[in-house]
Amino acid sequence: MRCPACNEIGKDKVIDSRLTESGGAIRRRRVCQACNRRFTTKERAEEELRIAVVKKDGSRVRFRRDKIMAGIQHACYKLPIVDTDIEAMTDDIEGELFRDHDREVTSREVGECVARKLRDVNHVAYVRFMSVFKEFNHVSEFAEEIQRVEDHAATASPDQQSLFGD
Ligand SMILES: [Zn+2]
Repeated sequence: MRCPACNEIGKDKVIDSRLTESGGAIRRRRVCQACNRRFTTKERAEEELRIAVVKKDGSRVRFRRDKIMAGIQHACYKLPIVDTDIEAMTDDIEGELFRDHDREVTSREVGECVARKLRDVNHVAYVRFMSVFKEFNHVSEFAEEIQRVEDHAATASPDQQSLFGD
């Protein structure tokens, strides 16, 4: 690879290699043997390995990890669940879906996978997720709907603010 300091190609050597905290990428520390400059590269799975999500109406959208994470974040809103837990759950879900599905997965399967994870982690988050997932059948739609309701709740009176009645 090209050295960002001296532009020499192919003179770099990997001196350290480790998984990122989430496990979703590998960070490699490299040294350029031409100029001794050290730099870091981050490696992720290629986009073409990605799978398509088949929605209820038959349309396909690209699988998006950030949508899964947003859905989980919304379900965990104000619950004692830290960001690293949410990231770990997202990693598990992504890993499971990619392991069990070749090219496509239905939105229902994605949602069920998210639901299983949430059920293991926090009951309230699980119930929240399920109550909306049944209606929308897709995590991204769920996230969008919750956002809409939260935006509305911000301007509503206090007794109307509890979306899920908990
Ligand atoms: Zn160099």
